[in-house]
Amino acid sequence: MARALAEVERGLQFRTAAWIDGEFVPALDGRTYTSENPATGRPLAEIALCGAADVDLAVTAARHAFESGVWRDLAPAERKRILIRFADLIDANNDELATTETLDAGKPIADVRALDIPDTAGTIRWHAEAIDKLYDQVAPTGPAAVGMVVREPSGVIGAVIPWNYPAQMAAWKLGPALATGNCVVIKPAQQTALSLLRMAELAGEAGLPPGVLNVVPGPGDVVGVAIARHPDIDVVAFTGSTEVGRSFLHHSADTNLKRVVLELGGKSPQVVMADAPPLDEIAPKVLDAIFWNMGENCSAGSRLIVHRSRQAELVERIAAAAASDWLVGDPMDDTTRIGPLITRSHLERVLGYIEVGRAEGARLVAGGGRVLEGSGGHFVAPTIFDNATNQMRIAREEIFGPVLTIIAFDTEAEALAIANDTPYGLAASVYTENLRVAHRMARALRAGTVGINTYSEGDLSTPFGGYKQSGFGGHDKSVHAHDQYTELKTIWIDMTETGS
Ligand code: NAD
Repeated sequence: MARALAEVERGLQFRTAAWIDGEFVPALDGRTYTSENPATGRPLAEIALCGAADVDLAVTAARHAFESGVWRDLAPAERKRILIRFADLIDANNDELATTETLDAGKPIADVRALDIPDTAGTIRWHAEAIDKLYDQVAPTGPAAVGMVVREPSGVIGAVIPWNYPAQMAAWKLGPALATGNCVVIKPAQQTALSLLRMAELAGEAGLPPGVLNVVPGPGDVVGVAIARHPDIDVVAFTGSTEVGRSFLHHSADTNLKRVVLELGGKSPQVVMADAPPLDEIAPKVLDAIFWNMGENCSAGSRLIVHRSRQAELVERIAAAAASDWLVGDPMDDTTRIGPLITRSHLERVLGYIEVGRAEGARLVAGGGRVLEGSGGHFVAPTIFDNATNQMRIAREEIFGPVLTIIAFDTEAEALAIANDTPYGLAASVYTENLRVAHRMARALRAGTVGINTYSEGDLSTPFGGYKQSGFGGHDKSVHAHDQYTELKTIWIDMTETGS
């Protein structure tokens, strides 16, 4: 398999121009930027550096496609057919897309091939399959009127996505937005545009009409802001940091009051109660929750809140497993579980937090620094701090790297108070064999997803979104994601007859 992938890698021809109105085009002013491979620090591709004028062009194409009806007026079964073909093409090109994603984002190839790309195709397919099975409503009026409540596509959707799951995050926006009949202008993160540009081409091959999907790569403070402020975009869906997400609300308020949907950061708790299942069962799940995707995961279980009676044994187990099971290495190697962090500056930020943890007096029990420096890549050893308090910065701020912070508790009330004492509310886990405790905690935790005896984001049939400063205005995944890309319209028909 390694040899087959090496061949795929050698044959890669990256798509590096913007995808606007059904074709690849350079930035209007011809500028480009260099995207680098985070595993080596070396240049990978020269990509179109778009600006506000390119966003304008893309929005014009999307608006034209929307108003022409080429997409929104297709029968849902027809949109479904094209989107399923798109999903099939993503699956058929798994090796190429996965290799591209790994080289571009540093994500371990084994994860990308088995999870990211299949989930990307699966998301498009799920929303496509749902769309010809959803009915509108007739209101419970008397015979004097017929009140229809129908859903219509919102129009032109702007999407701005992060670098941690480039293909998957795109699909979480494109699946529901396209299935419901909208046209889209999407901006990938500057660091990771390549998989989405190739996906756009595959969408064209599948039969998506020109202008329905447009991809505009470029910097957040230029292209992202142009999307956020564009007067002809009806809805903007953003996934990224809470800080940038907040600015989208200002932009909307200052311009055309476009609907804003935000999926933001987290500092998610994993609570291990005294009566948790055996620790050999839960230790791997606890580590998965924090080290999966290098901890560059919005719902990473970055705070382990453990009952004092289980603390010593759990810490011993996970500290050993962090070193033995979480191999740091070349992300193109099938056995690697932790690849490089996305950029040099992000590496420095994460190393900075490790220093903060030390200085705050937490006990370092695993990792604690940069590794594989000679590669030129941005690698950090999986790191665990024990004996922390919830007041420490390593317990309060989103590190977005492979760093776990452990806090001990004595009572259920204390565990809950610590878990909820955060500005975030994206995900949480509770480990207990007591059914009542499980239900009580699941209800009391202020988070969009609560896993019981597991770490999970649910599946495509469940909504994903955040409480508090982890989210705003909507959800990804499931039919609930359709709400943010559609308008509810009332059609009221007077049935009274006059004069007869
Ligand atoms: P980021 O906020 O820096 O960037 C996200 C996107 O916004 C990128 O495309 C970027 O180019 C763009 N952007 C940057 N500055 C902008 C600006 N001033 N105006 C408009 N757009 C701008 O986030 P990131 O570093 O790419 O991703 C990490 C963050 O994303 C973390 O906080 C993580 O928790 C969050 N995230 C959340 C989810 C979720 O579903 N809740 C999923 C993945 C990541």
